[in-house]
Amino acid sequence: MGIHIPFEWETILTQSTQHTNTQYCCDLCGGSNFEIISKYDRHKKPLNTGLCQGCGLVMHVPMPSEDEISAYYAKDYRRDYHGESKPSPRRIMRAWNNGQRILKQIKPLISQPCRVFEVGAGIGCTVKSFEEAGFDASGIEPNTDFNSYTQGVLHAHVDNINLYDLEADQSRDVVLLIHVIEHFVSPKRALMHMRGLIKNDGLLYVECPNVSAPFATFGRLFHFAHTYNFTHNTLIHLAKIAGFDVVKRFTDEGNPDIQILFKKMPVPENIERDEQEAKHCHDAIFRYNWLTYNLRADYLLRRIIKLKSYVKEYMQAGHFVKELEARFKL
Ligand SMILES: [Zn+2]
Repeated sequence: MGIHIPFEWETILTQSTQHTNTQYCCDLCGGSNFEIISKYDRHKKPLNTGLCQGCGLVMHVPMPSEDEISAYYAKDYRRDYHGESKPSPRRIMRAWNNGQRILKQIKPLISQPCRVFEVGAGIGCTVKSFEEAGFDASGIEPNTDFNSYTQGVLHAHVDNINLYDLEADQSRDVVLLIHVIEHFVSPKRALMHMRGLIKNDGLLYVECPNVSAPFATFGRLFHFAHTYNFTHNTLIHLAKIAGFDVVKRFTDEGNPDIQILFKKMPVPENIERDEQEAKHCHDAIFRYNWLTYNLRADYLLRRIIKLKSYVKEYMQAGHFVKELEARFKL
């Protein structure tokens, strides 16, 4: 099934790979000088991806509006990327195991009793994992496709509420943002709003793809749903602007995932910009061609591990989900 792209991107493109226009403003540094590093998405449809020359942030150029993104998620996202409107046993098993990993990873760094809140909770497996471990856990999820499963089967406290409709009551100890920050129209606005949800000295845990790893061959790196692509440096820079400082990084720069725990701090008056990040990011993205990307030893190892987990999911998912659902049956 194809991806619905609500824009005519080709009209934006020029012959030059350098694009300077004040209406295209970098969310991180406010700059408008972008190197266009890709003109197509992973399905070979026109999609302009720019690398900000001021700070290294990689983003759609121009950025779609909030309404256009909302319309895309409301209708197309789940079906475009997963071809399903109810979660399959394999998806549930994967989401559950991922929730358990995140719980194990950050539990030693948070104290109980504690209110954990997930923004973009998906099926609700991470929220349910934290609830089972004794936390006061809840979340929000804009997509409604899986709501009935989340609420009716998992009994996870996940509501269909927009982030920006939540009151800045500074009531949560920990906010989780798992593979969500790369989807916002303005991640800076999103983080600033999330700051209002978190207690002073509270924590923010973020996971997202690492564009400098990279996590896919160049031709498959970009797609409409990922409005931004981060490196460790650009994510940390953005978090600092929103008043969050690093507590712990769980992955290194060669890992295709960024996983960082931040702590809420006073918003600094001035953040120094890393002049080298644009070059660092460019060099990292272009350092492999298709062959060298696929021949990397760590890539091959990850593929083998992934394939093994797919086989395991295929063999065990049905039974696994049956047992999980039986556990939560009222
Ligand atoms: Zn920038």
